[in-house]
Amino acid sequence: MTMTRPAPAAAAAPRAGGELATYTRWPVTLVRGEGSTVWDDTGKSYLDLYGGHAVASTGHSHPEVVRAIAEQAGKLLFYSNVVALPVRERAAEAILRQAPSPLSRVFFVNSGTEANENAMRLARRATGRAAVVSAHGGFHGRTADAISAAGLEKYRALGAPNVPGHRFVPFGDLPALEAALDGDVAAVLLEPIQSLAGVVTAPPSYFAGARRLCDERGAKLVYDEVQTGFGRTGTFFWAGRHGVVPDLVTLAKGIASGVPMGAVLVSEQIAAGVRPEEYGTTFGGAPIACAAAEATVRVIEEEGLLENVRRGSRRLREGLEKVRGVLEVRGEGFLLGIRLDRPGKPVRDALLARGFLVGGSDRAEILRLLPPLVLTELEINRFLGTLAELL
Ligand code: PLP
Repeated sequence: MTMTRPAPAAAAAPRAGGELATYTRWPVTLVRGEGSTVWDDTGKSYLDLYGGHAVASTGHSHPEVVRAIAEQAGKLLFYSNVVALPVRERAAEAILRQAPSPLSRVFFVNSGTEANENAMRLARRATGRAAVVSAHGGFHGRTADAISAAGLEKYRALGAPNVPGHRFVPFGDLPALEAALDGDVAAVLLEPIQSLAGVVTAPPSYFAGARRLCDERGAKLVYDEVQTGFGRTGTFFWAGRHGVVPDLVTLAKGIASGVPMGAVLVSEQIAAGVRPEEYGTTFGGAPIACAAAEATVRVIEEEGLLENVRRGSRRLREGLEKVRGVLEVRGEGFLLGIRLDRPGKPVRDALLARGFLVGGSDRAEILRLLPPLVLTELEINRFLGTLAELL
């Protein structure tokens, strides 16, 4: 007797509406990516100037990253932090060779918000103090302590009741920072370029001043480099720019080209005070993520991607500044904000229809560009031409 199996219809077609509706979805279903291009389920291609939200650092499915992941998956898919793993050691070494002194240790976690939670905890335990000062306009993630540090009130409110002890100052305002830095402050947590707020920058003297004030008052300086790290601004890290190195740096997004990973870089002095069992996570430093992170650093180095970002950024700026309807271009490298003379949403929609993905921001008139670091001049010119036509 033959049995007929039921057709595997449920497995073949993704079930619409199965996920909790936590996102406003763009009207596109993506199935493939290569370099700075992604393809939808009808075969239409898009130039990805959003980079999957600043994640696809080496481009989509870079062959070196894919190869490293596949090779590691075939060898050892997972083992916990209770044992040493060569791939974890190689990933730490690769990241730290790009980090300015005295950042000399890495703690691997799984996301940006988790990196920030741990950075605040490391600073509190190192200083024996509780308060954290962050800047209006900053965004640091959505878990309890990180969302309580959000300088964008709308997000902070979503985390209510907030963790106590968070204070806020205007970004770029040194006298305000000085006034907030009393003997209770453990950390000053700054997003060096405030991305979600609309790509807001501060002058170099602000970072130097923040470093000096933290040293004088015994607080730790933390850079949230979840977006600015891993080459996005044209240097490997913001840490080290203008001669300023913070005590802690948090990383995620582009660190492993799309495999979930976060990390906290820690100064020698903070590392010296950490004892086993005080911090931990099951999946942090997992072999696949470490293989992807190591390959990501290598691709950025070997393909000269920092120089590509600097060159591409200059071309983007020059071109954008000539487009009628663009009032201002802000940011650095491939973290750029375009301030328009009109609301951004219809422009984003029109770009999407023509095959270009760009990001929005907390400000309706500011679009964000967060493309892969491999974006080419030809691709930039294509985008500039289409935007000029549209506007
Ligand atoms: N910090 C910054 C600057 C971010 O942009 C984000 C996410 O957008 C986060 C932290 C949180 O990262 P994750 O979503 O990986 O928790």
